[in-house]
Order: sequence, then structure tokens, then C-alpha cells
Amino acid sequence: MKPNIKVALSFDVEDWYMGMELKNHEMEGKERRLTVGLSRILSLLGKKGVKATFFILGMVCEMYPEEVKSIAKAGHEIASHGYSHTMVYKLKPASFRDEIKRTDDLLSDITGKKAVGFRAPYFSITSESLWALDVLIEEGYKYDASIYPGYNYRYGIPDSPHDIYKYPEKEIIEFPVSTMELFGRRIGIGGAYFRILPLFLTKRGIMKRGNINKNIENNADTVIYLHPWEFDPKHPKIKVAPLATLTHYINLGRTYPRLKRLLDTFSFTTCIDIIEEKCR
Ligand SMILES: [Zn+2]
Repeated sequence: MKPNIKVALSFDVEDWYMGMELKNHEMEGKERRLTVGLSRILSLLGKKGVKATFFILGMVCEMYPEEVKSIAKAGHEIASHGYSHTMVYKLKPASFRDEIKRTDDLLSDITGKKAVGFRAPYFSITSESLWALDVLIEEGYKYDASIYPGYNYRYGIPDSPHDIYKYPEKEIIEFPVSTMELFGRRIGIGGAYFRILPLFLTKRGIMKRGNINKNIENNADTVIYLHPWEFDPKHPKIKVAPLATLTHYINLGRTYPRLKRLLDTFSFTTCIDIIEEKCR
């Protein structure tokens, strides 16, 4: 029997090279492989009867409109990942707004629905780019899922809340990146950690956050984040900065079987489902 705990499952939908900090001209001509990982995800979720949230890049909407349509048709939550996978803190508010509007138009043209959830590329809403929340509110967003409550070399707002919260004095809900304590350090649940750490540690992290077994750590809802390219271990290998190369390619073959096992362990749903239940 599954524990009485619901976990949000999310995918940041981008092709394998789009989150590798490449310059525009370096992205040109890269092999398009989004469908390889995406179709494995959609068929697994379909088999297991699980709905998830897909944070989709505007660039992806332009390159793969049929695939975006099929995600929406399968009943998953469609949300925004911005347009170009540029870090928010490297953008000016006006160009961030352009990215948001452009992706909004693309998503609603394809799906017929306005996205209400946003996740920044590289979780790049940090203390330097909190103005982005105001842009999101003005553009009709109900929640953001970009703030990492810890420190990472690219992102994070240490000491920010670990559970879903209404952002103080702003009309937006934050579903922060889920973390767990390991060897005295706070690390993310999902992404590269999902591949690097043994699966039992991810499971234990979710249980502790859910306050199951009275082993209180956070007592918080959990969101897992993954990418279609993590379900396509044979995508091309290129070299970027050493740490980024390592975290991108390590243990790629483990993502699919691990997610399959995790889906049998916990009940999963969309981000908006958990937020609406919590903030009712
Ligand atoms: Zn991304």
C-alpha cells in the first residue's frame, strides 16, 4: 500500500542542449531529440495513470507544437518555463516580460488554455531577480516554482521557506524546489540528485518531508523535477563546464527505471493540484 502522501511530479520540457548554457550560435544545428525522452515519459505516465506538470519552453512550442499538444491532450498541467532558457537574473524586467508573453501566446495557441504556473530556467529567481514575481503576477500567474531554498553555485535563496507559501505582500504562491538534509547539507530532490543518489535516499527524503513515520524534518509537500533528455541516455555528448557536464550526463540510464519504481511507491499529481488543495 502507498503511504498517505501526494507528491507533485514535474518536467522541465527542453531539448537536451537547451539547458547547457550554450550561446545561440552554439545551439544551431544540434540534433533534435526531445521526442525520444518525452514519448517514454508520456507512455509511462499513461500506463500508471499519473498526471504531472510540464513546464514548457517557448522555443519548444515553436519546434515541437504537436508534442506540446499531445502533453495537453493527455490531461497534464501545462505551465511555462520561459522562452529561451536564459537565467532570469541575466535578463532585464522588460525582456523577461517579453519571454513570458511570447511563451504564454504560444502555449495558449496550442492548448487553448492560459498557463498559471512558472518555473525559471536554472531556478534563477534569486534575491537579485525577485522583481520577476511582480511580472508573473501582472501576467496572470498563480504560482511560481523557481526558488531553491538553499545554496547552489547558480541559484538559491538560502533560508527561504521549504514548503508551499504565499509570497509575503505579493499575490503569488511559491512552490519551492524540494530539498532534503543529507550529511549536514541541504540538497535538492530530483534532477541530477535523483540520478546520483541511490533511490532509497530520495524515497526517505520524500517520507521525511511528508512527516510519515513521525520522523519530522520539514513536514512539507514535495515536488520532483526531471527533464525529457534524462529519459534519453543516448543523446549526444558535448563538453561544457566540468561540473555542468558531470551533472548532465551522470547515470542517465537510471532515470526511467527509478521513476517507474517511484511511481509505484508514492501517489503523484500536478503542482496546481497540490497547491489548490493546500491553499484552499
Ligand atoms: Zn530548464
